[in-house]
Amino acid sequence: MDVRAQVSMVFHLDKCIGCHTCSVACKNVWTDRRGAEYMWWNNVETKPGTGYPTGWEDQSKYKGGFEKKEDGLELRAVGKVRGALTVFHNPNFPVIDDYYEPFTFDYQNLFDAKEGADQPIARPVSMITGKPMEIESGPNWDDDLAGSKHYAAHDPNLANVSAEEREALFDIERLVFFYLPRICNHCLNPSCVAACPSGALYKRGEDGIVLLNQERCRAWRFCVTACPYKKTYFNWSTGKSEKCILCYPRLESGQAPACFHSCVGRIRYLGMVLYDADRIEQVAQTEDHDLVDAQRSLILDPNDPKVIADAKRNGISDDVIASAQRSPVYRYVIEWGLALPLHAEHRTLPMLFYVPPLLPVMAQKSENGHYDTTHDDFLGSIDQYRLPLQYMASMFGAGNEAPVRYALRKQLAVRYYRRAVTTGDIPQEQADRLLKEAGCTPEEADRIYHLTALAPFDDRFVIPPMHREEAIEMLDEPLEAKGFAGMGIRKRPERGA
Ligand code: SF4
Ligand code: SF4
Repeated sequence: MDVRAQVSMVFHLDKCIGCHTCSVACKNVWTDRRGAEYMWWNNVETKPGTGYPTGWEDQSKYKGGFEKKEDGLELRAVGKVRGALTVFHNPNFPVIDDYYEPFTFDYQNLFDAKEGADQPIARPVSMITGKPMEIESGPNWDDDLAGSKHYAAHDPNLANVSAEEREALFDIERLVFFYLPRICNHCLNPSCVAACPSGALYKRGEDGIVLLNQERCRAWRFCVTACPYKKTYFNWSTGKSEKCILCYPRLESGQAPACFHSCVGRIRYLGMVLYDADRIEQVAQTEDHDLVDAQRSLILDPNDPKVIADAKRNGISDDVIASAQRSPVYRYVIEWGLALPLHAEHRTLPMLFYVPPLLPVMAQKSENGHYDTTHDDFLGSIDQYRLPLQYMASMFGAGNEAPVRYALRKQLAVRYYRRAVTTGDIPQEQADRLLKEAGCTPEEADRIYHLTALAPFDDRFVIPPMHREEAIEMLDEPLEAKGFAGMGIRKRPERGA
């Protein structure tokens, strides 16, 4: 067992209000620069919809991530031969129209316009050419309209939803959407790292943050193609690629990343997890159906004495282990089984997990036309979910409905339980039974409720102490010796070696 530490994340989607404060915080800190105008390292999209860049989930177009072959994993688009053939023209590379042409407005005209009969206006101006332009798209173009047929119909996750369910989805009375905030997943098996011929991308040894060394970047842009989440970007002004750095300078000084810190809905959680690097290759090759469970099995119990001993032998300090023991991510992902990776089928082993949304939980009238709080389907049932379960499974279950159903059912049971506690109009025995059927105890339901609804800053962000002095030593020996090209992480030297 080769125990490593990874800063990982949970986003609770029922809590996101789509305010985009996170995106703006990130933009102000990191991408308010020439060449980076179109970049949103943090973006929030509305689902069902096509997102940013448009249709990023359609790998038949963008060819990101890994494919499972008989003899192992292969990058979908960027093998040695394919890479060489696409140096001068890469048909899978997203172009500016797939993102949007960034724009500002000619505000000065509001002050300088000559006196006239009409109000002066501020016309849109391209931030690339500096010329007036017509706005035809934006980074959240389908915001709040995504549930409508016009946009939702192009969502790749609807491909496996039956025609009937799809038709029902677009009934005007049933229109439904939720928000999906996205940043780099700081994957355990990052395809961006595997694709870079210059070795510019790497995974930091001490906390697994995926970084891009600008000095080494040679503008191959294979990372942009290889990332199935389209979370590396090419700066047209500097000629270098860039990506989310999880605000590591903030983390190193004990502060949450800007998008986490500013999140209005308090949907974001951050914490350390310990995982077994020896099993990455095996897990990444698991069949789709079992991928989510396999990925979760990589994460180790931070209270297990053997894990602790192996972690210490690998140079992981006591305070980092203690931080992993308090990790809210471990609670959501492993203990409660509520948080799931996004599109695990691309086999990059993303370390940002999502609690799938229940969407509007509305009281249902029973057959006699009254609200019957004692009915098991009073708050609706997962099987009559307004977004088909297969849709959610396509995003959060690698096509398998089981982990999504488990997470939704448990969340719903916790809602019944809390309603029984707070309003008393649901019999306590019924709430306890529903909890039990969902695989939850009242004590666990209380802990879920607390971390979801009441947790203060220090419980949501358990920021590990950073040991930069040790991290510098780790930069010496690349881990390609482990024989897995995708890993790109650096080997931690034996303590005292
Ligand atoms: S492959 Fe993973 S680590 Fe690399 S940019 Fe994409 S999301 Fe981030
Ligand atoms: S700041 Fe938080 S609540 Fe607002 S859009 Fe971003 S993730 Fe959602």
